[in-house]
Order: sequence, then C-alpha cells, then structure tokens
Amino acid sequence: MKFWRQLRWRIVGANMAVIVVGVVLVMLMAYLLTQGYVPLDVQVAVQEAAESPEASVTLLDTFQQSIFTAVAVAGLGALIVGLAGSIWLARQILRPLREIATSSQRIAWGHYDERVAVPASDELSVMATNFNQMAEALEQVEQRRVALIGNVSHELRTPLTGLEGYLEGVMDGLFPSNEETYATMYSEVRRMKRLVDDLQALSRVEAGQITLRLEEFDLAELVRRVVLQVQPQAEAQCLQVVANGDDLLVVRAAPDRTAQVLLNLLSNAMRYTPEGGCIQVRVTAVSRMAQVDVQDDGIGIPPESLPYLFERVYRVDSSRARKSGGSGIGLTIARHLAWAMGGDIKAASAGVGMGSTFTFTLPLAGG
Ligand code: ADP
Repeated sequence: MKFWRQLRWRIVGANMAVIVVGVVLVMLMAYLLTQGYVPLDVQVAVQEAAESPEASVTLLDTFQQSIFTAVAVAGLGALIVGLAGSIWLARQILRPLREIATSSQRIAWGHYDERVAVPASDELSVMATNFNQMAEALEQVEQRRVALIGNVSHELRTPLTGLEGYLEGVMDGLFPSNEETYATMYSEVRRMKRLVDDLQALSRVEAGQITLRLEEFDLAELVRRVVLQVQPQAEAQCLQVVANGDDLLVVRAAPDRTAQVLLNLLSNAMRYTPEGGCIQVRVTAVSRMAQVDVQDDGIGIPPESLPYLFERVYRVDSSRARKSGGSGIGLTIARHLAWAMGGDIKAASAGVGMGSTFTFTLPLAGG
C-alpha cells in the first residue's frame, strides 16, 4: 500500500500500535481482575461494607464500571497525546529530509550556493552539516573548474597573440622575415606546447593514470644526484645539500617520479631566488617518513597565496612567472605524484622577501 510506504505514517502507526496494545492489555487485566478473579481481600472488604449480598454484587459492579471508565478515559488520552506526539516527531524528522531532497535537486540543476538549515537534534544536525559541507566542496570544485578554463585560455591567448602579431608584422613588412623573427615566433610556439604538455600530464596524474614502479632506494643518494644535475644552472646561487650524516634513508617510492618532484622544487627555488641567494636541501627522517626540505632565501610567498600554491595554473604573480615561462602547473603535478607514492608536499614562507621552504615527504621502507 502506497500509504504505508510513507515514513510519516509508519512513525505514527508504530506509536499508535504501542498505545493501542497498552490500552487493550490494561482493559484485559481490569476485566480479569473484576470478573472471575476479583482479589479475595477486595471481595471480603466489599461483603463487609455491604449490608446484603445483593448490595455487595452492586458494589462490585460499580467497582468494575469505574475501573473500565478510568481505563477507557486514560486510553483515549494516551491515544490523543500519542497521535499528536508522533505527528510532531514525524514532522521534526521529515522536514530536514525534505529540505535536503529539495536542495540536492537544486544543486543538481547547478545552484551550487544552496545550503540547508541545521536542525537542533544531534543526528539530524550532523546530517545537515555534512550535506552543507558537501555542497560547499562542490561549489569550490565548480569555481576551480571555471577558474581553470579562464586561466588556461588566458595562458594560451598570450603566446597566440604574440605569434599573431609577429605573423602580421612579417606579412605587412613591419618585421624582417629573418632568423631572429622566426626564433621569437618559435619560442611562443614552444611556450604553448609546454603548457599543453603540462596540462596533459596534469590530467593524467589527476586521473591516476600514471604508472608508478615502487621500489626501495636511498633517498639521500637520489637527492645528491638530482642536486648535482641542476648544479650548473644554479651558478648564480649557492646550492648545497645538508644530508642526515651518512645515514641511509631507504624509502619505498618510484625513483624517477621522486626525482621529477625534486627537480620541480629545485627549479622553482632557483627561479624565485635572486642572484647571490642560497638554496639548501635538507634530508631527514621524521617518525615513519623521510623528509626533504628545499629551503631558499628568495622572494618568498605572501601568506594569502600559500593555500592556493598547489592549485592548477595558480601563480603568485602571473606577470612575473610568465617571463620565466612557468605555467603554474608544476606544483600541482608534484603534489599528486607525492600523494600517489604515499607522501605529501607542503609549502611554508614567512612572507614576501623572506624565502620559502617546500617540504616533501615519502614513506620510509618498512615503516
Ligand atoms: P610555475 O611553473 O609557475 O613555477 P608551480 O606550480 O611550480 O608553477 O608554482 C606555482 C607558483 O608558486 C609559482 O608561480 C610561484 O608564484 C610560486 N612558487 C613556487 N615555488 C616558489 C619558491 N621557491 N619561492 C617563491 N614562490 C614560489
């Protein structure tokens, strides 16, 4: 029956059933007590009080009648209060449920700012709070998606506009069609290709489509090798490794991906540290994790930018980074790779001009 499929009527029905069974049982007990099984002391008391046997029977009948009337009135009262109570309870439970159903429908239609009121009851308030948190997360995802499309199209438009300008210039005879012009146009094309390659790598890494060949290796050794590799590019800065003595730091991770992450952190540190600055790479073990700190005394990061650093296509100062060719995707890929290997990357900075520290952790082998 459709009627009984509704939670409201099930709650009311369950409460009513309890009351009806209670009243019937009380009536039954009253009947038994007053009919065949009138307690002996009540019979004796009635006989003593009555002047004749007929009067005692009338007295007993009156006693039975008043008990039935009392139980019937009490039962009716319980039924009315029970009915009102269960309707109220059903409303209390169903109102937030109905609200959540309506809100989720609106969210599905694209109204991501939809939220529900948090009811007073503990369990329902947990449900409503969780729903609101989910709606907020969805809203943020949508905002990031829109921002990403905006950023990517902006990033692509910049080299495209440059290229268009050069081509028009060559066609109109404003620019000579020589090697230098072609080299400038080529660098714009390269920038576009780099961005598209980065985006493709990002989508693969976010979709978990990268293959990780996990093995056990010494992280300190790998860090020294990567630092040696970038040393020639760091001639303007001092670049040093501070390893944890000669201790082995055996981690379980993918060596090529670990090197990729370290290269990204080091090239960022070199890019954002002016000449004469210093970059220090520290390798330590912290509880069950190996930790690599890439610390520079470069331009630093403003506190308001720190939470967004690992978001796709985010750059603290887009004009500054564009000159150096950064697309703002490197750190997003690096963090996803770190997560895929059971580690993490965090950024810290005391502020603009105060340098930055990027902390990359990986699980120790057997940890
Ligand atoms: P990009 O390719 O632009 O460097 P990343 O994702 O690697 O992209 O970095 C995102 C942004 O984080 C950079 O544009 C830069 O503003 C900031 N950043 C990264 N590393 C550093 C650092 N060592 N010092 C200061 N800012 C940094």
